[in-house]
Amino acid sequence: MAGEDRRAARVALFPLPFQGHMSPMLQLAGALHARGLAVTVLHTAFNAPDPARRHPGFSFVAVPDAISDAVAATEGGGGLDRVLAMNAAVEAPALAEGVRAVLASMLRSGEPRLACLVIDATLTAVQKAAAGLGLPTLVLHTGSAACFRLFRSYDMLYDKGYLPAQESNLLLPVKELPPLQVRDLFDPSKLPNKEILMKILNLANETTASSSGAIINTFEALEPHELKMIRDELADKGIPVFAIGPLHKLSPADSAAAASILNQDRSCIEWLDTQAPRSVLYVSFGSVVHVTRHELAEVAWGLASSGKPFLWVVRGDLVLGVEKPSELLPEGFENAVKGRGKVVEWAPQQEVLAHPAVGGFWTHSGWNSTLESVYEGVPVLSTPRFGDQLATGRYVGDAWEIGVLLEGALEREKIQRAIATLMEEKEGMGIRERARSLKEKARMCLESGGPSHQAVDMLVNHIYSLSLGSSLLVPL
Ligand code: UDP
Repeated sequence: MAGEDRRAARVALFPLPFQGHMSPMLQLAGALHARGLAVTVLHTAFNAPDPARRHPGFSFVAVPDAISDAVAATEGGGGLDRVLAMNAAVEAPALAEGVRAVLASMLRSGEPRLACLVIDATLTAVQKAAAGLGLPTLVLHTGSAACFRLFRSYDMLYDKGYLPAQESNLLLPVKELPPLQVRDLFDPSKLPNKEILMKILNLANETTASSSGAIINTFEALEPHELKMIRDELADKGIPVFAIGPLHKLSPADSAAAASILNQDRSCIEWLDTQAPRSVLYVSFGSVVHVTRHELAEVAWGLASSGKPFLWVVRGDLVLGVEKPSELLPEGFENAVKGRGKVVEWAPQQEVLAHPAVGGFWTHSGWNSTLESVYEGVPVLSTPRFGDQLATGRYVGDAWEIGVLLEGALEREKIQRAIATLMEEKEGMGIRERARSLKEKARMCLESGGPSHQAVDMLVNHIYSLSLGSSLLVPL
């Protein structure tokens, strides 16, 4: 392909407006832009990327949406209700029509030629709108390869009787998806909104099957078996798979702040500078998990009794229905942790995990958080809550053995014991060593000639080939 042709292509990207989806999509945009592709980011008004932090080299186009109303209607529900409502709102015909109009105008305006649209896997209506214009789509999977497989296996899980989960089979290994056990499966059966959830999973499968490629934010050395299975499965449909993670390290360094929906409180970095190497436990449950008042108190007392320095992200909406959860911290807690505890509303997480003072990460096992921790070699205390977090927690504890998986209710004594294992005891030594050795593997994957690096090269070539191969149907 001539060099001139290669420069003349544009990619449009449309992420789901959650932090855990926006970040990897914008990071992918950064990686593609760094390889010479022009980039347009489509976004909803809800959780729109902050204009002050937007990448100067990208174009941004807003698409009208009704997500705020959908989210407001879930007031009082849990984090999952909110996630499901937002997913349903982005499937609204008006939103897909809005995307279609933007894409049609981009196709009409010509140079550089729009090659494809990259979307989140659940955006089926948007994919159909693009297909109506003859524009191919690539699907970005923001979870692990293991979860990609898991979410495609629900028919099998019901057929073989793993689901609905019974009290008696919770510890049963799911032999088709090792190392998962029945208790690690996100079981829709007991949810009031089971149908919506199953619909979302089915949409994700449908979108992938109709796409021109699947991009997964993982790396070969982390999930070789899972990636092979996915490739074997999708090869039949002629869909290439690109494992290009960890994405946060593929794009320029300032992309983390640019992708953050909330303002990051940087005072914690100065505080970390005053702490001893590997002494601090960083605690964050991501952007959508909520805890109850009781759980907040148990976390607080667990941290207090651990005796370890800690940096704790208490997000503004961490406790549903509470304006300022940091003011809810139990009486006596502040005194008990004086001089060794810091609470912030939102942290520059990637920088925190890279800080030499951080020796452990207590996380809900969201996929971005997990990859960020893996990349920095920080061992993990995992307390997954729902969705893919459950399976990731199992991988952390049993497959990669880079962390302690704390299951069941959050109770201060259990928390204290888990922190001790992770950060100081002999029992945790192997965990800490394996976390450090996985860090080396992650870095090798990203090196020039490493598998993730090569996968980006292949992805860029694939995008250029799409730009030349598609026959567009846009009326002039
Ligand atoms: N994050 C952050 N500051 C915080 C907490 C989280 O920047 O104080 C970022 C974190 O680096 C990660 C994302 O928010 O990239 C959370 O994504 P993840 O997939 O881990 O969890 P989710 O929020 O989707 O449940």
